[in-house]
Amino acid sequence: MPRIAIIGAGLSGLAAAFQLAETEAEVVLFEKSKGFSGRAASRSKNGCRYDYGANYFKVNCNDVAALLFRDLPTEGLCRIMGDVWTFTADGLIESGDPKLNAGAKWSYKGGISTLGKLMVEVASLRVERETTITRLENENDSWSLIDDELKAHSGFDAVLITPPAPHVIALLNQSEVEEGLCERLTAELSQSRYHSQFCVAMNFAGEIGFPGQAYALINSDREHSIAWLSHENQKADHVPEGETLLIAQMSPAWTQDHYNDAKEDLIAIAHEAVNTLLPSELPPLKWADTQRWRYAHPYSAASFEAMKPGAEAGLFFAGDAFIGKGRFGGAEHLDSENEQHRCDDVGNVNQIFHEMSGSKVGAGLFPFFLKHAEHAVSDEIDAHHVDRGENESGKSEPLTEFSFNRTGSEDRADHRDS
Ligand SMILES: Cc1cc2nc3c(=O)[nH]c(=O)nc-3n(C[C@H](O)[C@H](O)[C@H](O)COP(=O)(O)OP(=O)(O)OC[C@H]3O[C@@H](n4cnc5c(N)ncnc54)[C@H](O)[C@@H]3O)c2cc1C
Repeated sequence: MPRIAIIGAGLSGLAAAFQLAETEAEVVLFEKSKGFSGRAASRSKNGCRYDYGANYFKVNCNDVAALLFRDLPTEGLCRIMGDVWTFTADGLIESGDPKLNAGAKWSYKGGISTLGKLMVEVASLRVERETTITRLENENDSWSLIDDELKAHSGFDAVLITPPAPHVIALLNQSEVEEGLCERLTAELSQSRYHSQFCVAMNFAGEIGFPGQAYALINSDREHSIAWLSHENQKADHVPEGETLLIAQMSPAWTQDHYNDAKEDLIAIAHEAVNTLLPSELPPLKWADTQRWRYAHPYSAASFEAMKPGAEAGLFFAGDAFIGKGRFGGAEHLDSENEQHRCDDVGNVNQIFHEMSGSKVGAGLFPFFLKHAEHAVSDEIDAHHVDRGENESGKSEPLTEFSFNRTGSEDRADHRDS
């Protein structure tokens, strides 16, 4: 039975593990934080629940639909009814593209990170949490993962690596990977570059309405300090009645200029920017929270194909580094086509399911499985021959069928967030 280690229990790692749970492989995920879902992150504070990374997902392909509505429990899902409107730096607020607004937007009542928790529960995935992998060692084609407490997790035939590309480059450079291969892989990974982004969550003692009862406002000219402003009240069970919780994602350019600013200064600037943008007067700010995402979302992609030489050594890769779409461009000229892309790119999480769980990881891992399946079959035949001698023709039977059983450990995760 092949043993596979997955580094990262974000949506890429979880989607791959969820698929692999259907096979005979023994899979262990290693996650540096306490929670699941990575940048699809949720937090609780003062009776509120809010999504401070990815804000929602859309169901735009069969893989995502099957996962959400067939494989996972649906009672915790919540649909966001309002549309996404646009605003410009000089304060012009307009309704968004009706076509892009037509698709349903979803999160969970317990926050978007519920998605990862449900995947872990339903497929009984084994996740070693609070375990940061700092180095990979290889002996006789078997991988050991060394964590930050120098503990070795050994005996893996393959490792699937899913964190943002800069983290993966650092990890590979610390690892026992043949020099030429390491250079090739890290050179490709460096093609994927990420925007940094501050997220500021603001809780107000009163109600705030967006124009047109929109759910969110997205900056269309990329000139505003705020790139995205959304209303967590539109997600069921997120905000107590009579209060408002707004999520402001500052623009990547603004984030870069203010990367080392104090938390209080960030909150003050975000609050003032919201105050100026919205037509109605804001109720008193009760509290605020910030998150500094160093690698929020990529704006350029590494090629999944170009990483294939890693497979020979048992190293596989997944993650949004291979999707490479960021919603908020830097200095690119904005035209209607770009605008369309920016709105489409909110579907990145969906793409991760589609590309990572199904086709891409599947395609990458298939030769590996075949190799192991062939070994397993020939081992079995060898054992058979030792017991009973050769069959009539003296030839081994061809592999004709694969049977998929859901396997998994009894490990149940407790539900703390990162
Ligand atoms: C502010 C913000 C807003 C966003 N908005 C949207 C949106 O609206 N729509 C959308 O589709 N996408 C959005 N995204 C992007 C989306 O969240 C990501 O593309 C997606 O979640 C990436 O999933 P992943 O599994 O590839 O990576 P991650 O979620 O980053 O998962 C990688 C995991 O690896 C773990 N890890 C890292 N290094 C190690 C190590 N050495 N050892 C062990 N574990 C490790 C990390 O803790 C993490 O859990 C947004 C992201 C941010 C930050």
